[in-house]
Amino acid sequence: MKKALVCGAGGFIGSHLVKRLKKDGYWVRGVDQKKPVFSETAADDFLLLDLREQKNCEKAVLISEGKAFDEVYQLAADMGGMGFIHSAECEIMRNSALINIHIIHASAKAGVEKYFFSSSACIYRDMDPQEPELSEEEAYPALPDNEYGWEKLYAERMAMAYGRLYGMKIRLARFQNTYGPEGTWHGGREKAPAALSRKIAEAKDGGTIEIWGDGSAMRAYTYIDDLLDGIILLMKSDLKNGVNIGRRQYVSVIELVQTIAEVAGKKINIKHIKGPVGVKARNFRNDLIKSIGWKSSYSLRAGIAKTYPWVKAQVEGNK
Ligand code: NAD
Repeated sequence: MKKALVCGAGGFIGSHLVKRLKKDGYWVRGVDQKKPVFSETAADDFLLLDLREQKNCEKAVLISEGKAFDEVYQLAADMGGMGFIHSAECEIMRNSALINIHIIHASAKAGVEKYFFSSSACIYRDMDPQEPELSEEEAYPALPDNEYGWEKLYAERMAMAYGRLYGMKIRLARFQNTYGPEGTWHGGREKAPAALSRKIAEAKDGGTIEIWGDGSAMRAYTYIDDLLDGIILLMKSDLKNGVNIGRRQYVSVIELVQTIAEVAGKKINIKHIKGPVGVKARNFRNDLIKSIGWKSSYSLRAGIAKTYPWVKAQVEGNK
């Protein structure tokens, strides 16, 4: 039985990944500074540890004295939506870098065979919506538009360097915006699909919600189950460099609002207010992940149809 460590197993993607690895027959240890908020962890073993500390990372990567995990999935990060990314630059750069520095070092030293790192589409530069999609190597010359993206790029490079020195197999995924049930939906770290679902769930039919900026920013959104398929395929593949995982269905923020409102069965008006909107667009190719058999099964509408009812239930449960 393969043994996997999931770092960030108390978070949105990490907690779903634990469930998926368990379904695939792994023995799984989760590690995070908090347990999953919305359901019990599916992990066989769960450690509550602050991964910014080297000694905690050394503890996490060992199954028993001298025996390391076959696979480490590194998803722990200090992160959130655009509001958080623009207001907590130092926390993101310090906390996520410390986690990445210590966990890769501990994994390599312990003799972990394969190491997965969750990078982001935020490593790419700002683009015009009409520009041709970028391939993975066009991340360079690098010009991420926020510090979260720079930290991810640094962590990608560090993982590659450790892979070269220690012979550890490195797999790097660059995630597109990912959404689904059991993601953060309020409190300041939520991302656009969850934040807009919450606002629409709170609004009356015919009511008005506020959105940051003019709503023209183009994004692609990937449903959690599609992302998990990509992670599993990538780990089994021979792809050694950064690989984009994401659905190529680009929509504006206004179109995202319309899709959620349709699923909610409400007529919603939009009031534009000032706020951090991020890049104009970020279009990237997905030929590489498709070359190893990945396909997206969830249109935005299909993914929102699974996500909105969950967010609505949280809003109603919170009243
Ligand atoms: P999340 O915030 O839900 O999960 C991250 C987890 O890391 C949290 O549970 C948090 O408690 C944990 N963590 C933070 N600091 C820690 C510390 N010092 N010690 C131990 N644990 C700590 O985020 P997510 O959406 O599940 O993202 C997972 C990974 O995927 C992150 O690396 C993120 O940058 C990356 N990513 C996510 C998206 C997305 O759209 N969700 C897009 C691109 C990349």
